[in-house]
Amino acid sequence: MIFESLAERLQNTFKKLKGKGKLDEKDVDEAMREVRVALLEADVNYKVVKDFVKKVKERAIGAEVLGSLTPGQQVIKIVNDELTELMGGTQSKITISSKPPTVVMLVGLQGAGKTTTVGKLGNQLRKQGRRPLLVAADVYRPAAIKQLKVLGEQLNIPVFSLGDKTNPVDIAKAAVEHAKSYGNDMVLIDTAGRLHINEELMEELKNIKESVKPHEILFVMDATTGQDAVNVAKTFDEQLGIDGVIITKLDGDTRGGAALSVKAVTGKPIKFVGMGEKLDALEPFFPDRMASRILG
Ligand code: GDP
Repeated sequence: MIFESLAERLQNTFKKLKGKGKLDEKDVDEAMREVRVALLEADVNYKVVKDFVKKVKERAIGAEVLGSLTPGQQVIKIVNDELTELMGGTQSKITISSKPPTVVMLVGLQGAGKTTTVGKLGNQLRKQGRRPLLVAADVYRPAAIKQLKVLGEQLNIPVFSLGDKTNPVDIAKAAVEHAKSYGNDMVLIDTAGRLHINEELMEELKNIKESVKPHEILFVMDATTGQDAVNVAKTFDEQLGIDGVIITKLDGDTRGGAALSVKAVTGKPIKFVGMGEKLDALEPFFPDRMASRILG
């Protein structure tokens, strides 16, 4: 489970604080040292940890906290607030265009979970009464088009494909036209990934962006690759520009470092999380609920 050891460690730290009737600065310092180590061990970005601990400490050694009747509780509340803030504060949704179709591009490295997530997102949107069109624009990974078609059949959602011999930019443009003619109000484009970031990939994504002007570019990242994934997100944001993040495989991530760092590092919110391989295993991301999971 995500945040397993982080939750255990923080809860132990705070149990000690709560046990004391009065707190002084030294108690807070010691607790913050433990928080720092726990966050680093959960694979949270070093600078993010440093800023986080500084902020919490500044608030926690304020007169109201140390002088209050329940200082331990107050410190926990501050940590809870700051963890929520770290993960984006409030829920962040997909922007829906007032003029359909809304075009959403999913980008990321190969294996991150883009194709699966396009299916999951389509499934979720359809349940909300929308008419999504899934677009197979990953013409490099041999099985990607077939995989999307199979997902579309399972979900009974249309998939737009022009095979793997057409340029992805032309596929994306044709898909948007198709959506307009057939009344699809959401166009979800599955783009190609690579094992690593390279220029060719970025060029291709920029060209698709330029030609279809998506309302949302969502970066899909694999939680289990931790800070590597966060660094890739940063590069995608700098080079392409992203509007939000979908974290996949959170069901297989015990540390939670990616989920805790990506908003602070990129400035872009987490919009959904993938919690399993099944097609209904995509959830909206709620920063406050995630924070509560850590603090119990
Ligand atoms: P792509 O190369 O980015 O299109 O990645 P795929 O969509 O093919 O996904 C790669 C693998 O990750 C597949 O085996 C998916 O079933 C798996 N996967 C995707 N999302 C999740 C998730 O949220 N949880 C788990 N456990 N597996 C996932």
